[in-house]
Amino acid sequence: MVEVAAQAVIKEERPTAPMRTETFRQTRPDIAGPDAPELPFPIVLSGTVQYGFGRGGKDLGCPTANLPDESITPMSSVTQTGVYYGYAQISPEKNGQFVLSEKDRGVMPMVMSLGWNPFYKNERLTAEIHLMHDFDSDFYGHEMKALVLGYIRPELDYTSREGLVEDIETDKRVALKSLARLAYEKFKSDPIFDTTQPKL
Ligand code: ADP
Ligand code: MG
Repeated sequence: MVEVAAQAVIKEERPTAPMRTETFRQTRPDIAGPDAPELPFPIVLSGTVQYGFGRGGKDLGCPTANLPDESITPMSSVTQTGVYYGYAQISPEKNGQFVLSEKDRGVMPMVMSLGWNPFYKNERLTAEIHLMHDFDSDFYGHEMKALVLGYIRPELDYTSREGLVEDIETDKRVALKSLARLAYEKFKSDPIFDTTQPKL
């Protein structure tokens, strides 16, 4: 059995990820997971968006909102590392003020990476979420809620940045297609999300 991500944390060792191969690239399916979410999904995650190393946006053209360590447990205790799909929402409020523009307040489709980022040789397990939406501003310090609904692929290591960028682009397409199925769409209005936000 594949061990869950939290076991590697307890053992204080960073597992090595397999190299991404050309065969993997050529045979990636364009939809992931079963037709309806199956256990352990849906998994609810929430926490304040943290500063990371600033690499996702600048280096890879894919900003990822990082969750604090303690918010990862509901996920890492039941799943392996890898890339997942689901929905996420950013709270409009920061320090008692409503600062997120109205178009940025919705529930957005997302791709999430749970892992050790082997390409960057991270020492810590991180959970990072890319929301598929063009935000007007950064939202560090805002509360983020996420509903993880399915698994896309294992975490891999790369010999080039281009290979990683290519896989991330594929992950986004796979996530959107996977979420477009009827049994997944209803989670967009799940009660964990706020659909009654005050106007600016
Ligand atoms: P860091 O290493 O600090 O997480 P990133 O380059 O990954 O830096 O950028 C992440 C930040 O970019 C998020 O914390 C958020 O404030 C902002 N951001 C803007 N648009 C998005 C988006 N679509 N998805 C995730 N984060 C976004
Ligand atoms: Mg990030």
